[in-house]
Amino acid sequence: MSEARPLPWLAPRWRKLVRLADAGRLPHALLFSGPHGVGKPSLAEALIARTLCAAPGEFACGRCHACQMLASGYHPDLLRVAPEEGKRQIRIAPIREVNGFVAQTAQQGGYRVIVISPAEAMNVAASNALLKSLEEPGGRTLFLLLSDIPSHLLPTIRSRCQHWSLAPPAEADCLDWLAERLGGEEEARFWLQAAGGLPLRALELAEPDARGLRQQLHETFDALVRGAEPVAEAARLDRQSIDAILWYGIAWLEDLIRLGLSGAAEELRNPDLLPLYRQAVKNGRVRDWFRLLDYAREQRRLLAEGGNPNPQLVLEAWLVRWSALLRS
Ligand SMILES: [Zn+2]
Repeated sequence: MSEARPLPWLAPRWRKLVRLADAGRLPHALLFSGPHGVGKPSLAEALIARTLCAAPGEFACGRCHACQMLASGYHPDLLRVAPEEGKRQIRIAPIREVNGFVAQTAQQGGYRVIVISPAEAMNVAASNALLKSLEEPGGRTLFLLLSDIPSHLLPTIRSRCQHWSLAPPAEADCLDWLAERLGGEEEARFWLQAAGGLPLRALELAEPDARGLRQQLHETFDALVRGAEPVAEAARLDRQSIDAILWYGIAWLEDLIRLGLSGAAEELRNPDLLPLYRQAVKNGRVRDWFRLLDYAREQRRLLAEGGNPNPQLVLEAWLVRWSALLRS
């Protein structure tokens, strides 16, 4: 079962988990954190499968009754907690269910596994309700918490977990994997760079729709540098994902700041935009780029939390600010 294997660049982490498990020293609560696109779910799924498997080798065997149940989508000793459909928060009710689940013995006589993802979605009441189970889970229980932003977890939750922070892999550790999927090393390198070194993010960005958006934003940027009207440009981008638009804005601002500070073009994430960047750095001052970067990050955070209900207004305000800087 290939889906129960971690992505190749996580192999060293995986070997360490296997050593711990085989020595009976697997912690009862693990927090896997790291940016979206680093591959946390692949490590988690491999560990869930191996922990529930009756005859694990390096990976889950894929053949035993437990593995078959897991493959069918239901295993009585596995509980997954996520926000309800269409909701952002994990509320207290599903965590009460976790506490009841932990209080029972495992039906298959092995481990009970509880997965909470994204863990930062737990509200305060849910987090507090989880503490007791995290503290005294009983034997043969594994809590797996996944988080893109572990700083948003209550410190009391973090401190009860063994924290594994997954950083973006070295290029050499993921380039082959990515090249296989994107049809060549050059493509792989380009998208990996644009994705800030996150291989799964690189795959997302290289999809046809995402490529289209990047091209469109490239044209918008070009138009703004040449003095186009930002509100009209915003109208052209209507119905595109504001989160993706801000994400690109942030990546490009970071490039501009790098270029403005050092003048060096080697470290840019989007080297194909260099001619546009050169035009832009002629006008803006680095301190203003930093201010715009803070603004974009804050807007993105508010959108993620559901704090800003009107994406089109955010988009307009964003392009007006960009344009003011590019033309100053
Ligand atoms: Zn098995």
